[in-house]
Amino acid sequence: MRVEVLVVGGGPAGAIAARRLAQSNRDVLVVEREPMRLKPCGGGIPSTAFQDLDIPLKIKHVSVNKIRIHSPTDRVLEIDLEGGSIILVDRREFDSCLRDIAISSGAGLIEGILTDIKKKKRGLIASVKTPEGVVDIEADYLIAADGINSTTRALMSIKPNQYVYTLSGKFDDITTDVCEFWFSQAHAPNGYSWVFPSMKGVSIGTGTFHPKEARQYLKRFLIRRFNSDEIMRDIKLLRGYKIPYWSEDIYYKDRVFFVGDAGGHVMPFTFEGIYYSMKSGDFAAQAIIEGSPNLFKKLWRKRFYSRFRLMKAIQEYFLKSDDRFEQLFNLFQRKQIQDASMQLWLRKDSSKSSIIRYINFFRKFLH
Ligand SMILES: Cc1cc2nc3c(=O)[nH]c(=O)nc-3n(C[C@H](O)[C@H](O)[C@H](O)COP(=O)(O)OP(=O)(O)OC[C@H]3O[C@@H](n4cnc5c(N)ncnc54)[C@H](O)[C@@H]3O)c2cc1C
Repeated sequence: MRVEVLVVGGGPAGAIAARRLAQSNRDVLVVEREPMRLKPCGGGIPSTAFQDLDIPLKIKHVSVNKIRIHSPTDRVLEIDLEGGSIILVDRREFDSCLRDIAISSGAGLIEGILTDIKKKKRGLIASVKTPEGVVDIEADYLIAADGINSTTRALMSIKPNQYVYTLSGKFDDITTDVCEFWFSQAHAPNGYSWVFPSMKGVSIGTGTFHPKEARQYLKRFLIRRFNSDEIMRDIKLLRGYKIPYWSEDIYYKDRVFFVGDAGGHVMPFTFEGIYYSMKSGDFAAQAIIEGSPNLFKKLWRKRFYSRFRLMKAIQEYFLKSDDRFEQLFNLFQRKQIQDASMQLWLRKDSSKSSIIRYINFFRKFLH
């Protein structure tokens, strides 16, 4: 079998890459290991991402116009999301909808698992295990969109991404009408715990750099949020999973592009990955279309590098201790900072000058 581009993984990154390539009449095939998979995920996507990426919002969803931040000392800040909202989706439906759009644009899709890659002079051969047997697929380029546990990275001896460990699940019979972010070193050291509305009930979880303590942290969070850790047994789909911690270690190597979680494209501090994985898939596809692999890194850096650097600095400074988070909380009480943050978060195409203003504000503070 021969294609121009083989996309490994049909999550948000892979599906959007395939759509863009197919729209430019490129011969593209997506290999997805588990088309009915439900990715552990809060499913929160800024509404502006749908316009930015021209994705019709056809699937069922919940729309939220407010976030609530809880500081370690139980101070509470509610922020209205002016100029946008957060759309919460079911990942099984969302991913499958994106794949359908790619297919209707002309991409092919097969169910299968990438098991081997061999380099060729001008391309590569990928072995894919399908329900019918192993197929060798020759391609000019491969797009690795196979998530945080990327098989492609492993097959190419690229060390795995650094990551934050999450323990998350769902409660069917609890509701909330805002996205709640809870901070404290006691239950989410260097990260946060969350309660987000979902299609049925809420999704909850906690993120930490200490996987072994994750269960203990989640229990502490449940006590803080619900006054009981016994409700742990009512959590549905309780699963541990990793989120990449952005380190910018790889974009492109030997005709392989690394996009989405496989390339570590998750915003530090907020740990927002859906939008950035879609954008990285789109940029990699554009680089192929324009015949310039290095364009992928250039496009990505031009658009996102400064905000990722800033968010990483904020994460590494303010999430180090509860006292420091309280300082950040004080800053967030200023309308000017709230507006600038929401603009960065919701209006993904915010101008470079607003990012620079934001960076300067924090730089002044950090000095
Ligand atoms: C608990 C949790 C909560 C989160 N909440 C949010 C949130 O609210 N908002 C947000 O923006 N981000 C969130 N994220 C991050 C977000 O889920 C990811 O960044 C995003 O899913 C990355 O998309 P992707 O396409 O790169 O990878 P994935 O969504 O992981 O997709 C990878 C695909 O590749 C397939 N695959 C893997 N290996 C192979 C193989 N060998 N062969 C073939 N196919 C393969 C998989 O089946 C999968 O479909 C959360 C993450 C976690 C863990």
